[in-house]
Amino acid sequence: MDLTWSDSEEAFRAEARTWLEAHVPSPALPSGDTAEGFAAHLEWEHALHADRWAVVSWPAAYGGRDASLWEWLIFEEEYYRAGGPQRVTQNGIFLLAPTIFEFGTPAQQDHYLPRMSAATDLWCQGWSEPNAGSDLAGVRSRATRDDAAGGWVLSGQKTWTTRGAFCNYLFGLFRTDPASERHKGLTYFMVPLDAEGVTVRGFGRLDGDEGFAEVFFDDVFVPDDDGTTDTMLRGGILGAVDQGWGVAMATTSSERGLTLRSPGRFQATAQRLVQLAADRSRDGALSEVMADAVVDAWIDAEAYALFTLSDVTGVVEGRSGGARSSYNKIFWSELDVRLHQVALDLLGPDAELDGPWMKGFQFALSGPIYAGTNEIQRNIVAERVLGLPRK
Ligand SMILES: Cc1cc2nc3c(=O)[nH]c(=O)nc-3n(C[C@H](O)[C@H](O)[C@H](O)COP(=O)(O)OP(=O)(O)OC[C@H]3O[C@@H](n4cnc5c(N)ncnc54)[C@H](O)[C@@H]3O)c2cc1C
Repeated sequence: MDLTWSDSEEAFRAEARTWLEAHVPSPALPSGDTAEGFAAHLEWEHALHADRWAVVSWPAAYGGRDASLWEWLIFEEEYYRAGGPQRVTQNGIFLLAPTIFEFGTPAQQDHYLPRMSAATDLWCQGWSEPNAGSDLAGVRSRATRDDAAGGWVLSGQKTWTTRGAFCNYLFGLFRTDPASERHKGLTYFMVPLDAEGVTVRGFGRLDGDEGFAEVFFDDVFVPDDDGTTDTMLRGGILGAVDQGWGVAMATTSSERGLTLRSPGRFQATAQRLVQLAADRSRDGALSEVMADAVVDAWIDAEAYALFTLSDVTGVVEGRSGGARSSYNKIFWSELDVRLHQVALDLLGPDAELDGPWMKGFQFALSGPIYAGTNEIQRNIVAERVLGLPRK
């Protein structure tokens, strides 16, 4: 593996760095999981899009720069290094978009992707239901065929929908074959949240932000997609009817793997941690044990970055990550908790007063839960990567 960047990659980095240094908002924006903060983040997304930094690896026709995966990694490194705001568009651009690139018709790609990169359509993810979390195949929300009207009628409830209260579209799984069980007979729907029969009820998280919503579907009509803008604005199906499980697994693989959590995010946190330790050391308040903990956490962030380079090499050479995204997810989520825990230990009693580290810690705690809990990921690694028996 050649770990040196080419001249054009270095030029790309310099261009990104210059733009980010000039544009990243300061002071930091309020949390994107509040109505006020979400609106501020949306303005940021529009600024990114205007200068074609919103989705660098996408084709220019969809708002991107046709950047390579390596350049995308460089952009992410620079983004977090510059302290760029959280991406409130992430469920669309990092999760749904790769799935549309893989399963969408050309008409769907032409319709949904530019609107997503421009932050016109804001997507939330509708997997979880009150009785289907880890056991996603237990989805009970259903879609019933209405041939006379030419479409599907959706009913049921989704929950834990991140930023559902602020988004205007949802993607999720619905059971289309009432006689089916488990992974079969499910279909991947895209639904506008202003459709008749949809009720979105936002609710607060542990940290008080209204980061979640419950979404209720009471006979919501989604017309058959005939490839026209008019029907696609009213939703549609991604992939084939009754084949939604396979499509959803492509989305979850993006969520657990590289696309959602690039290493730049953790390297930037590790760098802030090193700075915090340096400040403590100057004040004579850094024990040897704490210094070791900081170094260990920093090494882990670097290890994740190197691991990612090998993953990207695989993708570039045409090898699919598949279930490997599960151990990726275990590593980054536990790394995030460690990085923040060490920072709180360094801060001691002051930690209670430190907004960013404390808020970061609280969010890091949810990493081992969202995107499929780490217990479930360990089951997947055991069975599908290591080939161990189920019992
Ligand atoms: C910050 C955050 C954001 C989220 N955003 C979204 C979103 O946008 N859209 C969405 O659809 N969902 C979202 N979720 C929900 C998330 O996907 C679920 O919380 C998760 O899948 C776990 O489901 P559950 O909460 O029902 O827990 P359960 O499935 O009830 O699990 C409870 C506990 O049992 C363990 N467990 C369950 N089954 C097994 C097993 N077979 N083997 C070993 N242990 C097991 C789990 O690991 C867990 O510890 C979000 C969650 C969080 C925390």
